[in-house]
Amino acid sequence: MTFTRRWFCSCRGTPRELAEVERTEDEPTEPVCPKCGATPSSDPRHTITYSDRETWDD
Ligand SMILES: [Zn+2]
Repeated sequence: MTFTRRWFCSCRGTPRELAEVERTEDEPTEPVCPKCGATPSSDPRHTITYSDRETWDD
C-alpha cells in the first residue's frame, strides 16, 4: 500500500488540483500553483491543502 498525496490551491475560490511532481532525494521539488505561485512551503495566504489517497498495488 502506498499513499499518493494530491495538492490543491484554493486561491481562485474553489480548490484546484496542482500537477503532481516527482520527488527525488537529491532534488526535492514541490507542486506550485500556476495561478498564484504558492507552494506547500511558501503559502502566505494559506490556500494550499492536500489530501492523501491510499492506493493498493496488489
Ligand atoms: Zn493558487
